[in-house]
Amino acid sequence: MCKALVAGNWKMHGTTGSAVSLASQLNQDWAQNNAAEMIIFPPFVHISAVRSVIGEGAISIGAQNISQYSDGAYTGEVSAEMLLDQGCKYVLVGHSERRAVMGESDQMVAEKFKVAQDSGLTPILCVGESLKQRQQGETVAVVSAQIDAVIELVGLSNVCRAVIAYEPVWAIGTGETASPQQAQQVHHAIRAQLGEAGRSTTLLYGGSVKASNAAELFAQPDINGGLVGGASLEADEFLNIAKLIEA
Ligand code: PEP
Repeated sequence: MCKALVAGNWKMHGTTGSAVSLASQLNQDWAQNNAAEMIIFPPFVHISAVRSVIGEGAISIGAQNISQYSDGAYTGEVSAEMLLDQGCKYVLVGHSERRAVMGESDQMVAEKFKVAQDSGLTPILCVGESLKQRQQGETVAVVSAQIDAVIELVGLSNVCRAVIAYEPVWAIGTGETASPQQAQQVHHAIRAQLGEAGRSTTLLYGGSVKASNAAELFAQPDINGGLVGGASLEADEFLNIAKLIEA
């Protein structure tokens, strides 16, 4: 059975005060017995303060990035061990903003995935096509190649133990969402690529998810939850989205 998840990517927004306030609003409302597990991804510098608000309760913490190196002279990087020490359970790898803006290659994403998983963190591998690639009919090939690069390094069974988020680049932060049919088609292709071992792999959809479009997306058979950016910065909106996920 796939675990139902709702993840909030806070990106590079907020201050310690706003992060603590958002986390405590979520914490007051989100109970352990909700259908989905809630994970929040604050900026690195707010993780410790957020953790002191949510404690060991119903909400898990993740990091938005990880170094592919485990320790040493890598100025500005944050290691897996440091994330574990801060109480993180999850980490995003391969978010399209890191691929496009920070130049992360498939190989680097695969290395980050491996370092995360080897240390005990659960990677959420983000994959997705650009608008041009979709218009050229390359969506499934692009997504499948991004996943294959990780399979090549860590093996299929390890990819299946992680979480995969399908996030069409053209839908991230644009207000434009994939239709439930478009999203399901790609999720179905990912499920097929993973084969038998991937029957219980959690697959998330991300890309301008809001309370007004989430129900239809989450109703698709191969969508097990959402990775939410902009709408996760508003407690009520994020909670409304999260409550639409069924186990
Ligand atoms: C994201 O950052 O992963 C994301 C899906 O952003 P948004 O919901 O704002 O499109």
